[in-house]
Amino acid sequence: MKFGTKVIHAGLHPDPETGAVMTPIYQTSTYAQEEPGKHKGYEYARTQNPTRTALENNLAALENGVKAVCFASGMSAMDAVLRLLKPGDEIVASNDLYGGSYRLITSMFEPFGLKAHFVDMTDPKAVKKKINGKTRLLWVETPTNPMLSIVDIKAMAALKKKHPDLLLCVDNTFASPYLQNPLDLGADIVVHSATKYLGGHSDVVMGAVIVKDEALAERLYFIQNAVGAVPGPNDCFLVLRGIKTLHLRVERACKNAGKIAKFLQKHPKVRNVYYPGFKSHPNHDVAKRQMKRYGAMVSFDLMKDDFKQARKVLSNTRLFLLAESLGGVESLIGHPASMTHASIPREERLRVGLTDSLIRLSVGVEDVEDLIHDLERALR
Ligand SMILES: *Cc1c(COP(=O)(O)O)cnc(C)c1O
Repeated sequence: MKFGTKVIHAGLHPDPETGAVMTPIYQTSTYAQEEPGKHKGYEYARTQNPTRTALENNLAALENGVKAVCFASGMSAMDAVLRLLKPGDEIVASNDLYGGSYRLITSMFEPFGLKAHFVDMTDPKAVKKKINGKTRLLWVETPTNPMLSIVDIKAMAALKKKHPDLLLCVDNTFASPYLQNPLDLGADIVVHSATKYLGGHSDVVMGAVIVKDEALAERLYFIQNAVGAVPGPNDCFLVLRGIKTLHLRVERACKNAGKIAKFLQKHPKVRNVYYPGFKSHPNHDVAKRQMKRYGAMVSFDLMKDDFKQARKVLSNTRLFLLAESLGGVESLIGHPASMTHASIPREERLRVGLTDSLIRLSVGVEDVEDLIHDLERALR
């Protein structure tokens, strides 16, 4: 099946009991057994739930994996992957990770003996320097947030050749499976915050891990059941429903983002525009190779680079809503320096280009003329 068919059909079938076309919400905590141990494959809902199973089968197909394992949030999905490691193991990760991912590694796992190195992953040599006999995991995010740098997934996979115990995990939240399939590029594990593009309607928090190895899937199912950070069936239904239009939504949002990036680039009050679709973007060639389109996230900063100017723009859009998160049908605007990245010291922020006036857009699927008009007015 091709992608647009998979989102609607892969792993799904009408309900055998009633013929219901949409997967029912199995709102139950337990399942009746005929005699002890004789059941239909479902015993207790932390361990298995049919709505969740349908979603997991669908997600596995979207990322060309063999199994998907769903969690209560993107963070608990990442937590499950980190639980594959043990004290003394080392991890190499991007130096501009999603804030919550950085926090999970440094505040929850390092105290238990995991050691992490944060490097610029757009430079494979820098990553290679940090890999030693204890390294068990490379954690990649691409495109990155909010600077939209692109990490070469194939180049990261090549670093595993001399290290058979090394796993490569890609947080594919920003691209979505429509734009990029890391397992096909040599990754072992894909993680999603399904809260973003997969759900797509800003109405659910969920996470997923997808793998191409059965043994690794079994270890993750064990963690899912043992820890119990599982999503409820209602949320699974919402993500299943969101996925049915993933290709349409992301396609449209990417088209809108391209036009908005061009508009901003020409605007006299705008200094830099960060968008992997520009030929001038330092990782444009990598993006062109590994992504179907250039994504729907655009960041830019202002000629007058200060908080006050940024605040004026952020407070004067009407369609772009000032909010955290991304990947929904509605366009959002955010200010990383005071919102998502406020805990990073200013000098460190400035070093990677995250200036005081940097503004991040999550472009939605509205009519692009209205979105451009909204930005034009706010900039004025
Ligand atoms: C939002 C996000 C997460 C965390 O997901 P939650 O569903 O909020 O727990 C992880 N990685 C990236 C890139 C994200 O954008």
